[in-house]
Parts: sequence; C-alpha cells; structure tokens
Amino acid sequence: MLFTTDLHIHSDYPAQADRLTVMRECASAAEENGLTTIGFSEHYWNRAFPGRGRYYEDRGPETLREIRRAVGQLQKETSVRILTGCESEFAMDGTIPLTEEDLSILDYVIVPHSHLNYIGVTASMDFTDHWKECAEYMVQTFHGVMRHPLADRITVLAHPFEPVGYGDHQNEILQWIPDADFRACVREARDHDIALEINSLTVKGFSPEEVVRSEWVRFFTIAREEGCRFTYGSDLHGTAQFAYKKLAEAVADATGITEERMAR
Ligand SMILES: [Zn+2]
Ligand SMILES: [Zn+2]
Repeated sequence: MLFTTDLHIHSDYPAQADRLTVMRECASAAEENGLTTIGFSEHYWNRAFPGRGRYYEDRGPETLREIRRAVGQLQKETSVRILTGCESEFAMDGTIPLTEEDLSILDYVIVPHSHLNYIGVTASMDFTDHWKECAEYMVQTFHGVMRHPLADRITVLAHPFEPVGYGDHQNEILQWIPDADFRACVREARDHDIALEINSLTVKGFSPEEVVRSEWVRFFTIAREEGCRFTYGSDLHGTAQFAYKKLAEAVADATGITEERMAR
C-alpha cells in the first residue's frame, strides 16, 4: 500500500526557523515520498482554556490564521494539496481546548488521547511501571474524546493508544487491553466518523517482523473489522522522518486495510 495523504505534519521546529521555509521543505519531501495531499497540524491549546501547564505557548486563533496564510502562500508554489489543521488536546478534565472561532479557520482537526508525557495536563499520573493503569487510562480517554460535545467536529484521532512517553513499552501496555475494549472504542470512532491515524512515528525503528508481531496489528485489525476509516500521519518533526512511512504502510498491509478505507 502507498499512502498518498498525510494530515499530521509539524512545522514549528526548530523554533527559530521561518515557518514558510520549513513548510516548503516538508511539501517538497512529501512529494518525493508519494504524497499528493498534506496537512499542517501544530500542537494547539487556545489560551481561553486554562490548565495548559508549561507545555503550550500562549496561543489563540491568530496563530491558526498565520498558519493558514502560510499554507495559502505555499499552495501557490506546489501541486501538492495543502490543508490547515491542528493537533489539539484532550485534557485530564475532559476539555478539548478549541473554540468555534478556531474551528472556523481549520480545514480539519486532530485530537490525541494519549499524550501521557504531559503529566498533570493530559495524564493523571506518571505511569512508569504501572502498565495496566496506563492501558485503562487510555481506554478511558479514548471514550472521553468520543463522548465530547465536539466529537462530530473531529476529523482524526491522533496515534490511538500510542502511550506517548512510554514508547519502549507499547506491547507490554497494550496487551492489558482486551479485544472487547478495543472493539467498544473503535465502534464509537466509526459512529462519529473519526478516522483512526496510522502514525509512522509510533513504529519508527521497528523491523518488518516487529511490525507484524506488534499489538498494532491486533488493534488495527479490530478497527478494520468494525468498519473504521483511517488516515496516515507521519507526525513529522523533520523531513528525514518520512523514512518511517513504509512501516506505517506495513501496518496497513498486515491488517488488511486497503485504499478505500483511507479517509480523503
Ligand atoms: Zn501527538
Ligand atoms: Zn503530533
């Protein structure tokens, strides 16, 4: 399988670089990697919502407008279709920090449920060596996103069940989630038409055998069986990371996810 759309690209690195220059590099690398549509999705927490901790800059819709302007400029220079999105958050208290004004600026919205590294903001505790609790927390936050009043406005669930911050323990953590819990989660995603992201950063460094043996095959097979839609996300923080795209494609191949099941 060859993914042709990538909705999860970051361009705010390194912090001092000019955004349009970084975006231009991303678009050209995307084209070289077989992509025909890409979307920029910076981390975003509207300042109108308290509780963002030290992880988020003081941002509002002006940031999204600035990105949209850069996208407009870049679109004049490339045949790759460019979209404006964001990667918002699902806070511990159930907040998705987006306003109606934000939504009116965006082409699409990505929401993650498993930024477990932001302890006290999006994670209730340090889950190190508490893998069962970690798994249960992710089941709870997955349902939390699906039952949020904005659920029908969400386009993509970012890296579902990736225990961000505990990447070395993925299989150990996910084995605590029974098939029935995965199934109940993905049915809600399907019913709200929220695409599940196949994120290549999640499987970076895997050998093809490790992909096939991973818990991701169990999860995405269940999601396919339940009729979900999917998107590809490079979660790009540097164009070299497109090298992992083929590993995400291997996840799709191993789980029987075909072109028709990809959103957009
Ligand atoms: Zn993320
Ligand atoms: Zn991201």
